[in-house]
Amino acid sequence: MTLPSKTNSLPLTTEKKAFLLSIGTANVDHGLIPATRKSTAGPSAGSEGSVFIYSGGHRIRLSLDKNSPVRIQKIDSKKADSKKTDSNNVDFNYAGSNHVGSDEIVVLYENEPIVTGKIEKVLAHCPEQAYINLSEKCIFNCKYCTVPLLQGHTKSKSETLQIIQEAFDKGKGNVSAISITSGVEESPEGELARVMQLMPELIKYGVPIGVSIYVTKDGAQHLKDAGAVEVKFNVEAASPEIFERVCPGLSYEDVFEELKNSVAIFGKGRVYSNLIVGLGESDSDITKTVEDLAKIGVIACLRPVFENKLRSGECFMERPSKERLLKLYEIQKRICEKYDLHPEKSETMCSKCGGCDLVPFSDD
Ligand code: SF4
Repeated sequence: MTLPSKTNSLPLTTEKKAFLLSIGTANVDHGLIPATRKSTAGPSAGSEGSVFIYSGGHRIRLSLDKNSPVRIQKIDSKKADSKKTDSNNVDFNYAGSNHVGSDEIVVLYENEPIVTGKIEKVLAHCPEQAYINLSEKCIFNCKYCTVPLLQGHTKSKSETLQIIQEAFDKGKGNVSAISITSGVEESPEGELARVMQLMPELIKYGVPIGVSIYVTKDGAQHLKDAGAVEVKFNVEAASPEIFERVCPGLSYEDVFEELKNSVAIFGKGRVYSNLIVGLGESDSDITKTVEDLAKIGVIACLRPVFENKLRSGECFMERPSKERLLKLYEIQKRICEKYDLHPEKSETMCSKCGGCDLVPFSDD
């Protein structure tokens, strides 16, 4: 096998990102990335950390898994082209930016090089953002999510502020947002109160703040009044029937209702909702839900399901194929165009990061 000698020789295209997302994992050479914390939020909680690759102006996050068919290796710098002024060299154009590390890497699939790029520095959870999960516990029991099984730690206010300050210190002027998420330790209202206590401290940083917590009555208005600029409330499933099966005890209608209220408060395109792909829904279910959300001014984040072993057998979970992800991406772009929605202009959270999903227009 001959490894590529130039960092920019194999950029991360939309197709390659879809392919890598369909796998979702990578086996990263020992010592190539700094120790990463285990994921603590959402369906992938408990997984062995992750790696962020920046290539061709795009980002992808892959979960670490030593059995993955995707391997990430360092390119031998002696062999790498040192001509850093090459106008096609997207990665070198970002070399001065401190979210991209200096290691030049190649992503291999079954020993064939498919992408070259660089590994990004993670500030708190992801690059360029201080993204904090407040409560690693949940009283609900969504069948695809490991948080309720792990029942982890809830961060105190001072702990959270310390992590945020450390992210800003590490980011050295390159922190574009603060994003907050949380499980549910005791009640959704309790999580809203936890965020509200933090907000006066967070706005002092002068960057956009996004919040994604479970819905509460009037929660969006409180968050807006406190200074949040974007919110995310997750519908999770692409039909009420699947939602009822995988999120027992929760209300699909409540989430939609709060999304509608949130658009009235934050404005069209400032409200987001995760929609998991791979819970047994059809493409037309996804299309309908993306359009139902778009009609009320909400941007969907199409998230490939993470088949966490701790939840195997509890509900249908199948990572979507590259072809399916590309098809849904095109559908989502058409819907965004029709309703004049712009995920590429997001200021916080997942559409801003783009590591886990194809983000319409950003990933073209
Ligand atoms: S897309 Fe969202 S969940 Fe994925 S790494 Fe980025 S911020 Fe985290």
